[in-house]
Amino acid sequence: MDLNTKKVLNNGVEMPVFGLGVYKSAGETKQAVLDALEAGYRHIDTAALYNNEQMVGEAIKESGIPREEIFVTTKLWNDDMRNGTQMEAFEKSLHLLDMDYVDLYLIHWPVSSALEDSWKVLEQIYKEGRARAIGVSNCHMEHLMRVMAVASVVPAVNQIECHPYLSQKPLRTFCNNLSIEVTAWSPLGRGRVLEDETIMALAAKYGKTPAQIVLRWEVQENIIVIPKSVHKARIIENAGVFDFALDAGDMKLMNGLNKDLHFGTSPDDFESKQW
Ligand code: NAD
Repeated sequence: MDLNTKKVLNNGVEMPVFGLGVYKSAGETKQAVLDALEAGYRHIDTAALYNNEQMVGEAIKESGIPREEIFVTTKLWNDDMRNGTQMEAFEKSLHLLDMDYVDLYLIHWPVSSALEDSWKVLEQIYKEGRARAIGVSNCHMEHLMRVMAVASVVPAVNQIECHPYLSQKPLRTFCNNLSIEVTAWSPLGRGRVLEDETIMALAAKYGKTPAQIVLRWEVQENIIVIPKSVHKARIIENAGVFDFALDAGDMKLMNGLNKDLHFGTSPDDFESKQW
C-alpha cells in the first residue's frame, strides 16, 4: 500500500484511499494542494461550502499533473437542495474548478425535505458523465434507506465524521454491506485526539507521530481518509503511514477508544442549526 493505493468503488471507478481535505484552508488552499500533489497525494476533497474550488482547480492545473491522474471530490450544499437549484450548483462548482467533470459528487448533508429529489439530480449528472461517481455525506442508516428506496444508482461513498473517538463501526458495516465505501471526515478528530494517552504510547512504540498512528488505524480499518493541513511538513507527515502496520493487539486498543463523540455537527441535529 502507498499514497497511490486505490479502492474500486461499486461502479468500477478507482478512488485513492488517502487524500487532502481543504475545509477552512481559505487563502492557503492553492499552496496546500500544490504541496500535497508534490508529496504524492492524488486525491483532493473540497465542497461548494468551502469557497475554495477555484483555488483547487488552479493548483491542479499549475501542478502540471494530468487531470485524469487526480481524484477530485466536491459537494452539493444544503441551500441548493432546499432551493431546488441542485443542477445550477453543480454547474457552478464545475465552472469554479474549471473542469469538465468531477470524480465524485456528494450530497453534503441529508436535507430532509430534498433528499430524494437531490439524489435524482446527482443520478442525472452521473448519467451525463459529468461525475464519475456520486455519493452522499453525513448519512445515517435511515438517510441511506431513503436514498436507496429511490436510487437507480447506489451511492458509491458515504463521507462521515470518523476518528478514534467516533469509530462508527455499525454505520460502516451497514455501508459496506450495501457496497458503499466510507470516507472519514475529521480523521484526526480535528487534532483533538492526538494527545490521547493510548495513541501517544503507540506513537512512541512504533516511532511514529500520533497523527500517523490514527491515520494508519483508519487505513487498516478499510476507511478512506482525507486529513486536512495547510502546513507542508504536516501534509508530508500525514502521508507517512504506508511504511508500518499496527499489529492486531494495537488495532484492538485503537478500536477500544470509541466514545461515540462528535467533534463536528451530528447528522441528527444539523437541520436545527439552520444549515
Ligand atoms: P482533521 O481531522 O483532518 O483535522 C485537521 C486539523 O488537525 C488541522 O487543522 C490541524 O489543526 C490538525 N493537524 C493536521 N495534521 C496534523 C499533524 N500531523 N499533527 C498535528 N496536528 C495536525 O479535520 P477536518 O479538516 O475537519 O477534516 C478533514 C477534511 O474532511 C476537511 O478538510 C474536509 O475536506 C472534510 N470534511 C467534510 C465534512 C462533511 O460534512 N462532509 C465535514 C468536515 C470536514
